[in-house]
Amino acid sequence: MRSYITGLECPKCKKKHDFRKLTNLCECGSPLLVRYDLDALSREVKPSDWQKRPEGLWRYRELLPVLDEKNIVSLGEGGTPVFPLEEMGKKYGLNKLLVKDEGMNPTGTFKARGASVGVSKAKELGAQTIAMPTAGNAGAAWAAYSARAGIKMIVAMPEDAPATTQAECVAYGADTYLVDGLISDAGRYVRQGVAKHGWFEAATLKEPYRIEGKKTMGLEIWEQLPHGLPAAIIYPTGGGVGLIGMWKAFLELKAMGWLKGELPKMVCVQAEGCAPIVRAYREGKDHAEFFQGAHTIAAGVRVPSALGDFLVLDAVRSSGGTALTVSDEEILETWKETAEKDGALICPEGAAAVKAAQLIRDMGLVGADDTVLVLNTGAGMKYTELMTGKAKKVTEPF
Ligand SMILES: *Cc1c(COP(=O)(O)O)cnc(C)c1O
Ligand SMILES: [Zn+2]
Repeated sequence: MRSYITGLECPKCKKKHDFRKLTNLCECGSPLLVRYDLDALSREVKPSDWQKRPEGLWRYRELLPVLDEKNIVSLGEGGTPVFPLEEMGKKYGLNKLLVKDEGMNPTGTFKARGASVGVSKAKELGAQTIAMPTAGNAGAAWAAYSARAGIKMIVAMPEDAPATTQAECVAYGADTYLVDGLISDAGRYVRQGVAKHGWFEAATLKEPYRIEGKKTMGLEIWEQLPHGLPAAIIYPTGGGVGLIGMWKAFLELKAMGWLKGELPKMVCVQAEGCAPIVRAYREGKDHAEFFQGAHTIAAGVRVPSALGDFLVLDAVRSSGGTALTVSDEEILETWKETAEKDGALICPEGAAAVKAAQLIRDMGLVGADDTVLVLNTGAGMKYTELMTGKAKKVTEPF
C-alpha cells in the first residue's frame, strides 16, 4: 500500500509545485490540487481491494497524499451512512431522496475528513504549529486531530460562532480566539500571526490536503451506490471544499475507468443572507465578489468570500447542476420537519440542502424517480442554541 501522489498542480496557471514540503497557495494566488499517477493506480489496485478494508476514509490510501502510514492521524472518520428521507421525499415528489449523514464523524461534522488528512500531511511535512480562521466546525476538527498529532493549534473564530464549537476548541487545548466580525475578519488576524511567527496556515484551501480528505465523501458515495451515482448531489456551500472534493473524486474515478455512466449534477446551496457563489453563478461570472453584510443562522455557510469559488462554479456548470439559495426561515422549518417526519436531527446547513431538493425538483432539474443525495454536513446536536422547543413540566399525573 502506497500513495500514488505525483505532485501539486495549480488549476489556474498549471504550475507544478513540490509536494515534499509544506506549501500554501500558488504564486498566482490560486489553491493547489493534488495529482496522482492514476494510470498506475488503476492497473495495480482494484476497487475490491478498497472494499475489503475496514470502513473509513483511510481505505483509499492510494488516492490520498500521505506517504508513510505512521503519520496517519485518525479518530475513526468517514464510512458514514446513506439512508432515505422517505417522508421529506414524499412531500417533495422525490421517490429517492437520500441523505449522507456526515454528523456521524468524530467532532460531529465532515470537517473531520479534511482535518484527518490535512493534519496527517502537516505532521508528515514537519509542521509545529497550525493556525486557522474558522466558522467553528473546522476549528473544532483541526483542534482534535492536532491534539492527537501533538501539534500546537491556534484557532480564531467569529464571536457568534456556535457555542459548542468554541468549547470544543478549548477542550482540545487549542489557543482559541474570538473575533468581532466574520470568518474573513478572523482570517486577517491569523495571517498577521502567520507572518510574524511562522505558523503553518491551514485556512480553507490555503493548504492543498483538506480537499483530499473531503473528496472521500465522493469515493464513499460511489461505493455506497453501486448501481450508479445519484442524478444530483446537493451540498451546503461555504468555502466549497466538499463540493470541489467530491467532484475531484468523480473525475479521478472516471479517469481510472472505475466509473461508468453520467456524473451527478452538482448543486451548490447557500443562504439568502450569504450567497456570493450563487450570485456569481446567476451573473455568469467565474469568480464571486465579497458578499457584504453576510448573515445566516447556518454558521458553516457564513463565508462571504471563498478562495475556491471558481472551482465550485466550474463543477456546478460542467456537471449541469445549479446554484441556489434558501432563507433562514426555510432552514429552520425544514430542520424541524426532517427531525419530526424522518427522525433525522440534521444541522442547519444540511437543512438548507434538504430544502434545495424541493427546489431542484420544482424547477425540473430532476424527475420523481431520480436519486437525489443531500449531504448533511454535521450533527444537529451541535446546535443546541437553535433548539428553542421546550419540554413540558409535569403539573399533574398523566
Ligand atoms: C464548513 C461547513 C460547511 C461548508 O463546507 P465547505 O466545504 O467549506 O463549503 C457546511 N456545513 C457545515 C456543518 C460546516 O461545518
Ligand atoms: Zn498558479
